[in-house]
Amino acid sequence: MKAARMHEYGKSLVLEDVPVPDIQPNDILVQVTACGMCRSDVQLVDGYFRKYADIPTPITLGHEITGVVHKIGSVVPQSSGFREGDHVVVAPGWGDGTCRHCQIGNTQICPNVRWPGFGPVGGFAEFIPVPARYLIKVDSRLKFEELAPLTDAGLTPYRGVKKLRDAGALGPNRVLGVFGVGGLGGYAVQYAKLLGVVLRLSLSTAMPTILPSPRKTGPMPLSASRASLQQMLRRSSARPRPRVTSTLSSTARAPRR
Ligand SMILES: [Zn+2]
Repeated sequence: MKAARMHEYGKSLVLEDVPVPDIQPNDILVQVTACGMCRSDVQLVDGYFRKYADIPTPITLGHEITGVVHKIGSVVPQSSGFREGDHVVVAPGWGDGTCRHCQIGNTQICPNVRWPGFGPVGGFAEFIPVPARYLIKVDSRLKFEELAPLTDAGLTPYRGVKKLRDAGALGPNRVLGVFGVGGLGGYAVQYAKLLGVVLRLSLSTAMPTILPSPRKTGPMPLSASRASLQQMLRRSSARPRPRVTSTLSSTARAPRR
């Protein structure tokens, strides 16, 4: 199969022929149809993550993966519902399934977590083996290229905003601060709107910012410095105090191997 692999940090990926990977009995072999290009991919090539984990090369990058079920491992239960040809997306952050973090669904902080795209297998390839429990079946009418970024850029702020909602922090007359309205922050603002924030405020030094707009239904873009926005936030009539979510730092989800 074809795979785009990094052989050396700081160098371009190499498109080459490699063997189709074997699957473990509880894996599903996915034929990749679309894979997102994340800033983390660029950071990985630049060597940004080496201070956390010096991942040995060659590395097949790509962790925003969608595809089609190609082959099902021998012990994947029928009750999983997967059939060859199913359209799927890959949830990254493959925990070992046994530790206390995995037991409550926080597989991304499992001490033995594996991240596709940060080692031998990734989505910049024609096939990838995926533990069946980290595959999500999706409607075949949805577009792969639109689904791909949801698996990382979409999923990460969704989790954060949902936690805020579950903690009672979202609702009428509340203010939400989103620091870093880039790929992830853009999703965070949309989720906040969908999940019930009436007042919204977004702060970012790098991107256009958004102010709460009680008289309007949507957020209002505004160019202002971070300091002046913080001042406005403090003056905001919204009570209780604003809740804040940050989408600026990718280090919080740096890969650990
Ligand atoms: Zn675990």
